[in-house]
Amino acid sequence: MRIGYTIKRLQDVGRALFIQKTLNKHDRWTRQELVRFQHQQLSSLVTHAIRHSPFYRELYKHIKTDQGVVLNDLPIIDKSTMMDNFDEFVTDPRLKLNELRTHIGQLTRDEYYLGGYRVLTTSGSSGLKGVFVSNRKEWSTALAGFLRCGSFMGVSPRLPKRWRISSIGADSPMHVTYRMSVSSDVGLIKAQRLEATSSIEDLVNALNAFQPECLNAYPSIASLLAIEQLEGRLNIHPKVVSTLAEVRTKDMEQKIQEAWGVMPFDNYGMTEAGIVFGSDCSFHCGIHVFEDFFIVEVVDEQDRVVPDGSPGYKLLITNLFNFTQPLIRYEVSDMITMSTETCPCSRPFRLIARVEGRSDDIIYLRGPQGRDVPVHPIHFHSTIGALQEIKQYQVVHEDDGIHISIVLREGASGEEVASKLRDNLRGNLESHSAQCPDIHIRSVDRIERDPCKMGKLKLVMSNIRRHGI
Ligand SMILES: [Zn+2]
Repeated sequence: MRIGYTIKRLQDVGRALFIQKTLNKHDRWTRQELVRFQHQQLSSLVTHAIRHSPFYRELYKHIKTDQGVVLNDLPIIDKSTMMDNFDEFVTDPRLKLNELRTHIGQLTRDEYYLGGYRVLTTSGSSGLKGVFVSNRKEWSTALAGFLRCGSFMGVSPRLPKRWRISSIGADSPMHVTYRMSVSSDVGLIKAQRLEATSSIEDLVNALNAFQPECLNAYPSIASLLAIEQLEGRLNIHPKVVSTLAEVRTKDMEQKIQEAWGVMPFDNYGMTEAGIVFGSDCSFHCGIHVFEDFFIVEVVDEQDRVVPDGSPGYKLLITNLFNFTQPLIRYEVSDMITMSTETCPCSRPFRLIARVEGRSDDIIYLRGPQGRDVPVHPIHFHSTIGALQEIKQYQVVHEDDGIHISIVLREGASGEEVASKLRDNLRGNLESHSAQCPDIHIRSVDRIERDPCKMGKLKLVMSNIRRHGI
């Protein structure tokens, strides 16, 4: 049993290495070749979905596909629709949501479901938890995307001197960052897996002992570690630093550069995408969306496509390689801005200029005539991030005002920082026609991370529900 399991996992990684070789060829495609490929994959996916998923058969019953599939003709689906119809949504009738949830609850490592599926769940940071299933080939493709990210960063498997890679992330195999790391760890790298919920002291000690050449962490953790390095408690010399899964602010990026003298890579992942959705290359001109894996539409609140260079309100994702659980025009609340530029590397994939968080991170304050004024998290990042005395922060909008927890750098005066922060933030919010509510600032030793949310830190969040939402 154990030997069979090990052989299967090795086969999955072997297949991923093979797929990655094919992906390398896609880097040299023209844009037209890429679009043609997307169209062929989309047609196969839609045909498969209609044939094997009762949900899609019903959803698409009035859609003509015999002359080819037109993406815009297909209805948009969201997470609650998918989860409410899960057993009819998937293309293998043996996959039942209740049983998958039981399986998720019993995971201890990289176990298969029904001998061939891997099952993951999202952190539920935006409410409802999604469940996502891949068969072995689909998982290998996702792994190939993970390896491709490594090759973008110059970290491809190397023998005999294997890369020493520290990854700090979720601490449970039900979450994708952990699972991908476990699944790809078949001895090709020396891997250290650390938990994002650990104390910074424990992380520093573990990293000092391991001495990684490559450090991969949430940006809020990488920037805290950068301060540890700058202040002399951490002493590591990674050649490559990459961040994933949270919004990365300019001040975080600067601290990382200052500490290790390298520009951190920016990997963009989502569980719906089987983790890696895109990565920047060595030119750091933006995040290349892996468009041979996905079709991405950046849209506004009314689902209209926004032009490159303008921030979107959400994304519509079509996953071109997962046929087990077809995600076709699937709504994700990430707010991104596509770049209007191209990258000197000449890859055919479009660039994301900025990832701005999730649309449910927007805070709504009272404005003139009592109307809601949307305040984008970026206003908090720019105001709070500009204060060098603050190591880390979290903003929570409650009924009685805005609560800000701050972790101060050594030697900083809590009162002075709080007064400066209050004035700057008030000025910023009022310049956006928002009435500034009471600001409550609290200096804390650390900001707790929720293991149920993969240890990710939401820098800005609201506990207030808008009327009618
Ligand atoms: Zn590039």
